[in-house]
Amino acid sequence: MAAPRDRLAAVEAEVLAGRQGSSGVEVVLPSEPATPAPLCPHGPTLLFVKVSQGKEETRRFYACSACRDRKDCNFFQWEDEKLSEARLAAREAHNQRCQPPLSRMQCVERYSKLIELPLSQRRFCQRCQQLLLPDDWEKHHEHQVVGDISITQLKRPSQLLYPLENKKTNAQYLFADRSCQFLVDLLSNLGFRRVLCVGTPRLHELIRLKASDDKMSNIKSLLLDIDFRYSQFYMEDSFCHYNMFNHHFFDGKAALEVCRTFLQEDKGDGVIMVTDPPFGGLVEPLAVTFKKLIAMWKEGQSQDNSHKELPIFWIFPYFFESRICQFFPSFCMLDYQVDYDNHALYKHGKTGRKQSPVRIFTNIPPNKIILPTEEGYRFCPLCQRYVSLENQHCEHCNSCTSKDGRKWNHCFLCKKCVKPSWIHCSICNCCALPDHSCKGPKDGCFICGELDHKRSTCSNTSASKKVNKAVRKQKQRRGNKMKRRPLKDNP
Ligand code: SAH
Ligand code: ZN
Ligand code: ZN
Ligand code: ZN
Ligand code: ZN
Repeated sequence: MAAPRDRLAAVEAEVLAGRQGSSGVEVVLPSEPATPAPLCPHGPTLLFVKVSQGKEETRRFYACSACRDRKDCNFFQWEDEKLSEARLAAREAHNQRCQPPLSRMQCVERYSKLIELPLSQRRFCQRCQQLLLPDDWEKHHEHQVVGDISITQLKRPSQLLYPLENKKTNAQYLFADRSCQFLVDLLSNLGFRRVLCVGTPRLHELIRLKASDDKMSNIKSLLLDIDFRYSQFYMEDSFCHYNMFNHHFFDGKAALEVCRTFLQEDKGDGVIMVTDPPFGGLVEPLAVTFKKLIAMWKEGQSQDNSHKELPIFWIFPYFFESRICQFFPSFCMLDYQVDYDNHALYKHGKTGRKQSPVRIFTNIPPNKIILPTEEGYRFCPLCQRYVSLENQHCEHCNSCTSKDGRKWNHCFLCKKCVKPSWIHCSICNCCALPDHSCKGPKDGCFICGELDHKRSTCSNTSASKKVNKAVRKQKQRRGNKMKRRPLKDNP
């Protein structure tokens, strides 16, 4: 299957180049923001800076944290822009209008009414993606409506609702049964009693199904997700309408308290956070959010536990490994390949060939995580962890080095293992694809000027003063043939 691999390679190249979606825009996360960020319908916006090649943009701007497509949220404001009272009021009104039509309370009341109805009166409008009470029928009579919604169906909303696949915002890719089962069994075997599901609606629902089926595994789950449709199916203590790019609870303080209580129950013992964010999203704001959730959990810890970490599963493609570990040095990447239902790229191949690039990043010691041998994993006693069968232990690196599930080869010149498709290039002095262009212009890193990475993966983060020098260096390298990248997407 060459096509998916190629497409995947393209995504991977973009990520490694630090230019996802080639927008040329980076998020700025001031540690002590002087002024609070303005609000869009999705909560506080984020500060961005446009980085066009060789040109230092000094004017920064606020844009939506959740939507990377202006079609979904067109908020834009220069950092230094002053807005008139009238415009501020208009914005406030717009933000209000964009909120869901029903309050969280109303949803809960409607659900309580609905489950009391006989089967024949429980309906779901597919067009509006809404559960209907008899009073609503008239309004939806020309829509596609499904009747006889059983309690079982109500317990599996991710099968009733269609996945919101728009890549730039929701990117809702649901776990395949096999992966979801694996996760639930793993969480239960590891002894967790509470799971904070951040953007994992299908995992949330499977945990709850299991808990109601089998009294032995009584794991509780709380779902935080931006997909408001789920609020129709869950009470306040099991769903919060939430934006994981700015840690915003749409239903305010009450919802925040639900989350806090959940994390701090039993003095914070027995809880894990599992998250599967949209891959197109920026890693930095996610890391900031997860650190806030960690801090919330820590508040409930007793003093003598202060060294403990909140257990986390962060599900993300393998090529984000260095980015994630930069923010969470205690995380390691498991070899387990997470499969999805509605994502052609990420499905378990027909031939049994696994192709998913999606992995689990965790701070749980990997030797505690048993991967299924029947799905092609084995235990490496030297690495003390489960790895893919094809992932061979390299005696020179002293580790099982493959990241993508294929067998990697050791390169003695690079002194590391590299992808099987790579060869050593004496001009570049490193391994690369055979058809790479070594003489092409190299952009390198904006911060330190080195060629082997981009600004976003630079370890030299405190070196912003060197930016100017690095940019000059790049300009010299590129001469006058500089092309500016068009500003796509949400700038
Ligand atoms: N594999 C998971 C779903 C992951 S898809 C499962 O099967 O349970 C990404 C999820 O994150 C979706 O449910 C989507 O609605 C949610 N999401 C997308 N953007 C979000 C945001 N800004 N804040 C919170 N959740 C978000
Ligand atoms: Zn927005
Ligand atoms: Zn090994
Ligand atoms: Zn090696
Ligand atoms: Zn080369």
